[in-house]
Amino acid sequence: MKTEPENRHSIIVPFAVCLVLLAFAGYYAYLVLTGRHTLRPIEGVMALATAGMALFCILLLFQIRRYYRDSLERPGPWPQGTGLPERPAPGTEDISASATENLSKLKNLANQVEVLSAMREISLLASQDVNFERLVEHALAHVEQLIGTSEITLFLRSQEDKNVLRAQARRLDGKTLFGSKIDLAAVDSTHVAQVARYGNVKREETAKTLDLTVPVMVDREILGAVKAKIGKEETSPEELERAELNLRNILSHIGLAIKTPTLYDRATLDSLTGLYTKRHMTAELSKLFAGCRRLSKSLAVIMLDIDHFKNINDTHGHLTGDIVLREVAGIIKQQIREYDSAYRYGGEEICILLPDTAARSAVSVAERIRQAIEKARLRGDRNQKVPVTISGGVAVFKKYMNKLENIIAEADSALYVAKQSGRNQIKYSKQRKRIE
Ligand code: GH3
Ligand code: MG
Ligand code: MG
Repeated sequence: MKTEPENRHSIIVPFAVCLVLLAFAGYYAYLVLTGRHTLRPIEGVMALATAGMALFCILLLFQIRRYYRDSLERPGPWPQGTGLPERPAPGTEDISASATENLSKLKNLANQVEVLSAMREISLLASQDVNFERLVEHALAHVEQLIGTSEITLFLRSQEDKNVLRAQARRLDGKTLFGSKIDLAAVDSTHVAQVARYGNVKREETAKTLDLTVPVMVDREILGAVKAKIGKEETSPEELERAELNLRNILSHIGLAIKTPTLYDRATLDSLTGLYTKRHMTAELSKLFAGCRRLSKSLAVIMLDIDHFKNINDTHGHLTGDIVLREVAGIIKQQIREYDSAYRYGGEEICILLPDTAARSAVSVAERIRQAIEKARLRGDRNQKVPVTISGGVAVFKKYMNKLENIIAEADSALYVAKQSGRNQIKYSKQRKRIE
């Protein structure tokens, strides 16, 4: 059989011949029936045979046609001789509307897989013992890859003052900078405050770029905002829309990761006050103590205790007691320097380690804290006023100290003197020999 498309007549021609034969047989029958011709027996046989053959051929042709049509719908090569154009070679076919739609669905699916794997990795990192910077660096790298941004800045609310937003991390040309290393003059913070306040998304378009400002949220709490710049020149509107969706999806995970305490934090931070635990203090103090003994470094310890805390619990209830404890811890964290660290040493006792600090400075830090707490207008669970004061003892490392308990014992004994002297005051340990 022929296979060229122009031979589609290969079926029509025999079909027409059969029709002619049938017409011929019909004409013959007409002559006989009208008496214009007398049929000889041999002619009758031939006419019948011709009509039968023609009918048979027509039926056969219909069958063949049906077979071809069926086989067109089956996968695999087209049957030959169908009279249809050849199937185009792979890769050269015209992309039909449905193929374009499938391609776009496939792209969407691939994108979703990418977003999901990025989210999975961020969640994994959040549950591991990684620090904030490593976590954010990974997350921003994912965002950069997923939405094709050239510049992205993460702004978070300050721990101390929730109304203040700080540029915490900035990724530019594949490099992430944090905190003070960020060139704030180069950071565009337009709309960031508004987005972090109302939780809306802000889009700003120029001919070349799309600036997206998106809130970072967890459980309706707005932690901050992200500003991303996306190049528009080689990006279709559909891709831009997808980039925005990707950014929002991934930011919800970043928010959760930032909010979730890491294993390290869970192991080292006290859940009520957010201060480091006593166990962590022992580890830190032994390092600092070794530095004092071997490298002649200085170290100060402040031991603070809330005055008449039992009374506060008894008068206002334990719930208020807890609130007071948390507020006092918050004030202390605000008042100390970055390299000082505060620990929940006991129930309502807080210990502060101040490396490279002389006695005079340590006493003034303790005094500043005492005054801040005295001035703070703390309130209880029913918004009732709760006056709170603290007492403190200060000690510094001295050469006669041979174990870390000695410096703690001196700070403790100075605290005891402060309590004995009427509370709401700071005392410095004037000890000249070792207390065990
Ligand atoms: P002082 O001025 O001599 O320090 O008196 P104080 O009442 O503060 O001292 P005391 O050691 O007699 O009482 C401490 C109280 O702190 C007893 C304890 O029930 C309470 N406390 C310890 N931890 C917590 C806590 O996590 N929450 C609350 N609400 N109370 C706590
Ligand atoms: Mg107390
Ligand atoms: Mg106490």
